Amino acid sequence: MNADRVIEIRSLNKSFGDFQVLTNVDLNVSLGERIVICGPSGSGKSTLIRCVNGLEQYDSGGITVDGISLSAPGGVDRVRAEVGMVFQQFNLFPHLTVIENLTLGPMKARGLSRKDADALAMEYLERVKIPEQAQKRPRDLSGGQQQRVAIARSLCMAPKIMLFDEPTSALDPEMISEVLDVMVELARDGMTMLVVTHEMGFARKVADRMVFMDGGEIVETGTPAEVFEAPKTQRFKSFLDKIL
Ligand code: ADP
Ligand code: MG
Repeated sequence: MNADRVIEIRSLNKSFGDFQVLTNVDLNVSLGERIVICGPSGSGKSTLIRCVNGLEQYDSGGITVDGISLSAPGGVDRVRAEVGMVFQQFNLFPHLTVIENLTLGPMKARGLSRKDADALAMEYLERVKIPEQAQKRPRDLSGGQQQRVAIARSLCMAPKIMLFDEPTSALDPEMISEVLDVMVELARDGMTMLVVTHEMGFARKVADRMVFMDGGEIVETGTPAEVFEAPKTQRFKSFLDKIL
């Protein structure tokens, strides 16, 4: 295994009943690499990244994260300890305050004291620029603020890799940039990121590589410069024509 290769996806296949949602997907991600995955609705993007942290099971092929095979005994738990995930719907605990949302995982899973967990949580709330919201409930925050809490909550678990599944597509337009700005900073800090998004400005800014999926397959990959300049396939070209 290449030591820099933190995610290896080999010949991944998955069906829901008779419907094949992923077909022979191969993807390798290097340490610090930023990958943007795009493609039409229903093309298998969410299923693919959910497979990476064991939220979905695959039928054949394999996934290795930081040298840990998901199919090894205890593999899913060990992989999840290294992988953070942010969803379209923020999935915060509604009955907990913002800071309690952040401290729960570190106290339970990482054994931090409340004092240390609080300090860690405040550090990340400052990083996502909402320390003043610490004592509020999620429902009292805007969507953009809630998504930044969700990102901070993930970061409190010290992940080595972050997965994002359309993190801005449930947000009002004026809130999209405040979330993307946090993600750009995370990328600049060197985080390995797999991001499903149709925000092509973000992709241009941070993606090392773009992956275009259609019909459960990876149809095309390339740098943003390559794919925006001249997509190789007609399928990617017509997709870009629709969203740009
Ligand atoms: P994308 O994220 O690209 O929109 P998804 O990975 O969510 O695509 O879904 C790909 C296809 O798999 C869609 O046709 C969807 O309806 C189907 N699918 C997703 N999850 C399930 C499920 N739990 N059961 C059955 N079909 C599913
Ligand atoms: Mg999806």
